[in-house]
Amino acid sequence: MKRRKFLRNTGIVLAGTTIAGYAGIQRLASKIDEPIDASMIPNGSKVWSNWSGNQSCTPKEFFIPKSELELAEKLRSSTEKMRIVGAGHSFSPVVPSNEILSSLKELNGIVSYDIEKSQVVVKAGTHLYQLTPQLHELGLAFSNLGDIDRQTVGGAVSTSTHGTGSTLRSISSAVIGFKMVTAEGAIVECSADNNAELFYGGTVALGALGIVTEYTLQLEPTYKLKEVVYGASLKETMLNFSKLTEENRNFEFFPFLYSDSCVHKLMNVTNEAEKNLKHGFFNDDFWVSSAHVLSGQKVKNIKRVQDLGRKVYTEEERVGYSHQIYSSPRNIRFNEIEYQLPIEKGLACLDELRYVGQKGDFPITYPIEVRTVEGDDFWMSPFYKRKSISISIHQIVDREFLPYFKAFDKVFCKYEGRPHWGKLTYQNKEYVSQMYSKYDDFVALKQKFDPTSRFSNDYLVKLFGS
Ligand SMILES: Cc1cc2nc3c(=O)[nH]c(=O)nc-3n(C[C@H](O)[C@H](O)[C@H](O)COP(=O)(O)OP(=O)(O)OC[C@H]3O[C@@H](n4cnc5c(N)ncnc54)[C@H](O)[C@@H]3O)c2cc1C
Repeated sequence: MKRRKFLRNTGIVLAGTTIAGYAGIQRLASKIDEPIDASMIPNGSKVWSNWSGNQSCTPKEFFIPKSELELAEKLRSSTEKMRIVGAGHSFSPVVPSNEILSSLKELNGIVSYDIEKSQVVVKAGTHLYQLTPQLHELGLAFSNLGDIDRQTVGGAVSTSTHGTGSTLRSISSAVIGFKMVTAEGAIVECSADNNAELFYGGTVALGALGIVTEYTLQLEPTYKLKEVVYGASLKETMLNFSKLTEENRNFEFFPFLYSDSCVHKLMNVTNEAEKNLKHGFFNDDFWVSSAHVLSGQKVKNIKRVQDLGRKVYTEEERVGYSHQIYSSPRNIRFNEIEYQLPIEKGLACLDELRYVGQKGDFPITYPIEVRTVEGDDFWMSPFYKRKSISISIHQIVDREFLPYFKAFDKVFCKYEGRPHWGKLTYQNKEYVSQMYSKYDDFVALKQKFDPTSRFSNDYLVKLFGS
């Protein structure tokens, strides 16, 4: 059965039987497709919260500078702590501040470009969904992107946001230079050849060293991608994993916790004509919400719904320019844990995660997401000098996640996982320092650029000690 037909059928069954439950799920839907103030700086409220609602704070002040100079002046003329929010799409407590919470939403847009070199200078508060169509007009594109495009460039870069592809690096690796305002209000610039320590130590830095106002990005000429999605056997996928990752530019798969089937999603460069660009009503989100409503919290029902997964995802193809294909709508909110594992350990870790989840009857309907990412050179990047398998586990926002994520967290650490900085982890500096050979250098750099920890919050203290 074709995916669209199946989804329509599911919709009809659902409409007849569980309208109330479905309406409940729809209430969880965000309006992220609308160009709202995605920094989530509240209008008229004193409380900030992130996309999934699991993090919040009541800062003394929201500060939205109109220029880099205004930001520098603010830092020079005050002594309060300041955190920076991008699009508020991190699940981890990287953003909350009790003092000043600042958004760079006014520092937005392309500053300059060099088409011959495929390079642009862009303001850090620019959202990817704003930037990528503008780059396309210039004939430029990112080499790779993640599942959504709501993030700001600053937020995506600072947490090593990534897509999939074993030879492709995270979004941070597009950065070849940046400009940053320090705790004292000074403006510093760096690249691999100029102030290299700051460049390698500060590109992925969770806003701990300073506030980045502009990035110089190395892009490439635009290209089209063909995305193919289909159901497959999990066992065969595991056996053929190396081949699948080698033969496809961007390969990822979605194993279910309980079913022996999974879903493959692969993307390759093509010259074919564009097709199926618009995500319709019967999209992944619809399926996920339907699956949640149909199965409820009962593991027996979750197993049944997950067994349908392979049939649902048959022969879905989309063709378009890369920025139109990488991102998908994520209107149903969830919480997420993700770790990056050494490539040779990732699949064993996946096996154990599924074993632990099954043994504990964890009520998780969402498919697990398994991707690959090439290693890089940024000190605090989870991909530092390590080609990785990335595994993420989602739980719909209105359901309990803490005991399950904590159990998964232990498994991830057993396999030397490094947490995604924007996603949930239950580790602290003792673990993190062991996972990063440049940890001490990073802490020293933090001390150099922010000696009074103005850019810190409780979570950063937990990770870096100050
Ligand atoms: C629905 C959804 C889908 C996602 N999909 C993916 C995915 O496919 N791949 C992936 O890797 N991740 C994914 N993520 C995680 C997300 O990409 C990261 O958490 C990212 O950091 C969010 O960007 P943001 O602009 O919202 O930043 P925020 O969450 O607002 O901030 C993140 C960090 O960056 C810092 N920061 C922001 N701007 C600056 C700046 N100018 N200077 C210095 N520091 C700054 C903040 O202080 C904070 O520490 C997803 C998240 C959600 C909610």
